[in-house]
Amino acid sequence: MQFSFKKFFFIGGALLLAVTGFAQKIRKPQPPNILIIVSDDHAFQAIGAYGSKMMETPGIDRLAKEGAVFSNAFVTNSICGPSRACILTGKYSHINGFKDNLSKFDASQDLFVKRLQKAGYQTAWIGKMHLDTKPQGFDYWEILPGQGHYYNPDFITMSGETVRRTGYVTNITTELAEKWLDSRDASKPFCLVVGHKATHRIWMPDLQDLGKFDKKQFPLPDNFYDNYDTRYAAAHQDMSIEKTLRLGYDLKVMQTSDIMGAENYNRMNDEQKKVYSAYYKKIEKEFISKNLSGKALTEWKYQRYMKDYLATAASLDRNIGELLSYLDKTGQASNTLVIYLSDQGFYMGEHGWFDKRFMYEESFKTPMLARFPGVIKPGTVYKDMVMNIDIAPTALELAGVKIPGEIQGKSMLPLFKNKEQQARDAVYYHYYESGEHSVIPHFGVRTSRYKLIRFYQVADKWELFDLEKDPHEMRNIFDDPAYKTIQAGLMKRLKELITQYRDTDAEKLVGNQR
Ligand code: CA
Repeated sequence: MQFSFKKFFFIGGALLLAVTGFAQKIRKPQPPNILIIVSDDHAFQAIGAYGSKMMETPGIDRLAKEGAVFSNAFVTNSICGPSRACILTGKYSHINGFKDNLSKFDASQDLFVKRLQKAGYQTAWIGKMHLDTKPQGFDYWEILPGQGHYYNPDFITMSGETVRRTGYVTNITTELAEKWLDSRDASKPFCLVVGHKATHRIWMPDLQDLGKFDKKQFPLPDNFYDNYDTRYAAAHQDMSIEKTLRLGYDLKVMQTSDIMGAENYNRMNDEQKKVYSAYYKKIEKEFISKNLSGKALTEWKYQRYMKDYLATAASLDRNIGELLSYLDKTGQASNTLVIYLSDQGFYMGEHGWFDKRFMYEESFKTPMLARFPGVIKPGTVYKDMVMNIDIAPTALELAGVKIPGEIQGKSMLPLFKNKEQQARDAVYYHYYESGEHSVIPHFGVRTSRYKLIRFYQVADKWELFDLEKDPHEMRNIFDDPAYKTIQAGLMKRLKELITQYRDTDAEKLVGNQR
C-alpha cells in the first residue's frame, strides 16, 4: 500500500476529532446548582400543596407538582435566627452556639457554604439572614439588618454600606437575587440562599395585595378556644390572638400610640403612605363602628390577622414563582436543586395563637418542598421525618464534597434518589429562649406516633401526646397509666438522642450520665 500523506492527515484528523469528542463525553458534568429559598414564619397551613383552603399558592405549588412536598419536615429549635444557623451548620443550636434570638452567630465556624466554595461553587446570600454577624462563606451577600423592614428596606452590602432601596422587600429581594445570578461567573455552579422577610410579624402586605382576602371569612380552627387543660406551658404563654395581638401594632387600626408600628409606617414615602393608610383607615372606621368586645372582638382580630398574613404571603408566593420562571428563562431549571422552606412553622389561630416556639406540630414542623429534575420524581410526597439540619449535608453530598463527621443532619440525597436508607425513627427538639411570648424552654422527642416534651427553667413539666388519637395535642397523657410502657420507651429514646447529639444542658436535666 502506497503511503499517502493526504490519507494520513485525514485519518489522523478523524482520530483526533473522535478522541476529543470522547473526552468531552466523559468530562464530568458541572455539579448542580443549589437554590435555597428561606422564608420567615410561613405556615404550611397556608400553602396549597399542603392542602390549605386559606389561599392559593401557585408559585410554591409548582415545586410540589414538579418535585416533592415533605409532610414531616421539622426544625431543631423553632425560632428565626437559630433556625438559619442550623441550616448553615447542619448542627443543633447547642453545638453551633446560636440558641436564641438574643445570641450572636459565630460565622467563623464550619459552614457548608465554605466547603462548597472550596469545591468551586459560587455562593451568595441575599435578603434576610438574621444572624447578627458579618456573613462568611459567601462570594456575594446583601442582607437586611436584623429583622429588616417591609417597605423601603435597608440592605447591608459587602462594602459595609447600608443602602435604602425603594419598594417592597419581597420584590426587591427577588430582583437582587436575579441580578446576582445575571452577573455571576456562569462557568461555576452556584449555591444561592434567598432569605425572605415575609411572612414575619407585622404582616405588611405589598400595596397591590392590600385587601386581597377581605371578602373571605376564615373558619376558626377547632381548638381556637383552647382552655389549655393538662398543659401548663400552653396555659402560661403570651402569644394569643385574644390577649397578645395588638390592634395598633399588628392590625394597623386604632392609630394612636403605636400608629401602624410607627417605625414601619414612617419609612414609607408619601405615595406608599397614601395607599396604605387609606386602606387601613377604612378598616379602622368599620372597626370603631362595630364597637366589639369579648369573643366578637377576638374573632374580628383573628379575621384581620388572617387577611394581613395571607396578603403578605401572596407576594412571597408570587416571588417564588417569579424566581422559578427566571430559572426556566435562563435555562438553569434542569440543573438546579430548589429547596423552599420556612425558618419554622407558625400558628394560624390553632390553640388561639399566632407566633411559633412550641414543640407542638404547627411550629415544630416547617413547610419544605424540593424540586430536582431528573432525580426527584414529580408529585412526590415524602413522609419521612427530615429536619432543617439535613440541608447542609444534602448540599455537600450533591456537590461531591465529603460530609464532615461533626454534621448532625442527614443527607436527603438518598431519599431523593429513592435509595434504601435508614429512616429516622425519631426527631429531637430543643427550644431555649425565655422571654418574649413567655414560652417556657423545653426539649423533647417525637416519633411517628408519639411526642414527649420536658419543660424546664420556669416550670418543670412533662407532656406526652398520642398524635394518632390526639393530632391537635389537646390532652397531655403523661400521667395516664395506660401509656406507662410508651412513656418509658420514649424516655429511653429521648435520653439516647440527648447523648447522640451531645446536648449537655438537657443531659443534666434528665440525669443522663456521660
Ligand atoms: Ca421565623
